[in-house]
Amino acid sequence: MGNQTVDIVKSSLQALVDDKSFLPELSGERRKKAFTSLLAILSTPNHVNKSFLRIALENGQVVRIPAYRVQHNNILGPYKGGIRFHESVNEDEVVNLAALMTLKNALHQVPFGGAKGGVVINPREFSEKDLYVICKKYVQYFSDSLGPDKDIPAPDVGTGEREMDWMMGEYKSIRPGESYRGSFTGKSVENGGSLGRREATGKGVYYTFRYLMHDFLNLQESWLAERDNPFAKTVLALKDKLLSVAVQGFGNVGSVVALAAFQCNHLNNKVVAVSDRNVTLYNSEGLNIPSLVKYSYANNGDLPKTDEMVKLAGIKAEILNREAVLTIDTDVVFLAALENQVHGENKKDIKARIIVEGANAPVSTEADEYLSAKGVVIIPDILANAGGVIVSYLEWLQGRETQFYQEEEVYQKLYEKMKETFDTVLPQFFADPYPLRRNCNIHAVMKLSMIMYRQGKLY
Ligand code: NAD
Repeated sequence: MGNQTVDIVKSSLQALVDDKSFLPELSGERRKKAFTSLLAILSTPNHVNKSFLRIALENGQVVRIPAYRVQHNNILGPYKGGIRFHESVNEDEVVNLAALMTLKNALHQVPFGGAKGGVVINPREFSEKDLYVICKKYVQYFSDSLGPDKDIPAPDVGTGEREMDWMMGEYKSIRPGESYRGSFTGKSVENGGSLGRREATGKGVYYTFRYLMHDFLNLQESWLAERDNPFAKTVLALKDKLLSVAVQGFGNVGSVVALAAFQCNHLNNKVVAVSDRNVTLYNSEGLNIPSLVKYSYANNGDLPKTDEMVKLAGIKAEILNREAVLTIDTDVVFLAALENQVHGENKKDIKARIIVEGANAPVSTEADEYLSAKGVVIIPDILANAGGVIVSYLEWLQGRETQFYQEEEVYQKLYEKMKETFDTVLPQFFADPYPLRRNCNIHAVMKLSMIMYRQGKLY
């Protein structure tokens, strides 16, 4: 398995073994053995399924396409995780992402395990018909492992509701008479998907930040002021300030984050920079986000990239290079594009005092350590971007009940679930001088360890 997750599990277990209030009934040699068993279990996936899909392409050629379904752990419930269509998919990456799903679900008390799927293709190089065949074949090859009570895939990079609709259709054909609505999430609303699923991750990412800087800060201001903690000092210094915000990435996650920041009544925000694969747009007075959302929607998801296009979008903005969004002088930067964006090379140029990880792993370990030591608050992916899997859980529930929630009800349930997690991790984060990521990882590993112990898996 990729070292990243093994390291997370190892260091979290190390903290827990030293915490005598955790599983106090385990002591001495027995405690040592139990924690060694936990490391063995959590640092390896239960199953790595690999197939070479045989696909007859529209052009008459037959090809073999490598595909994966990795099931990391199901102690908390059926396996759950997206299917990625990308040319760089490989076994290590899928295993690592499956393990991160186990941790994310554990942290947010979502009753699912962790899994991930991948198909090694660039979907842009295939016709719609070929993609349809690839989706059907994926379900055929892995059908024994999938199902509403076994393993429930969702979209990921390169897949969306169209692919989930096709896959659920194939699952239904393969297993006539069996329940199928909960077999895939992230489906279209017409086909049993949940209202609000598309916006869920971005809404959750922004809510994480808003909760910290408004709800929690207002309630705990005096308690925070008493703490000798660099992170408490950082957030207190930003209280009631007009917060300048930058957002990297303007897709599903980034555009929703930018709009939520623009519309937020709880905090005084000003979105001064947004970026995508081509450019950064900057306006120190604040950008007109609704106009940019409208423009990108009508232009293949892209932001305007020339002065003429900026004019056409009806906004005022300076065009800067793509990376500028990271180093502009703002209070907050949301990372909602790709992994490894803040790294050893640019860590010293980051000026933001709060970084929110909408994407998975956008800050390298080296940069994380450097910035955390300077008191920068990094809200980690595992905490901030769980909105997608939480609403997937709601979609799965709605499919089982064949009762569908209104959009507002979905958001309300999403925020309630995330709030429960914040109320668990934030007080401890500000009590101890450790980064929030470490705190979240320990909570996730603690939950998994406790259940494994209770279910007798450590004998
Ligand atoms: P998306 O494809 O809709 O959007 C990606 C955005 O990033 C686009 O605006 C693109 O132009 C921009 N981008 C691409 N390369 C860039 C670069 N080098 N610099 C700056 N911007 C660049 O994807 P998304 O669904 O918004 O996902 C964004 C990230 O969030 C991904 O890492 C994804 O794994 C993660 N994530 C998404 C979800 C979800 O539900 N969509 C859930 C959890 C995590």
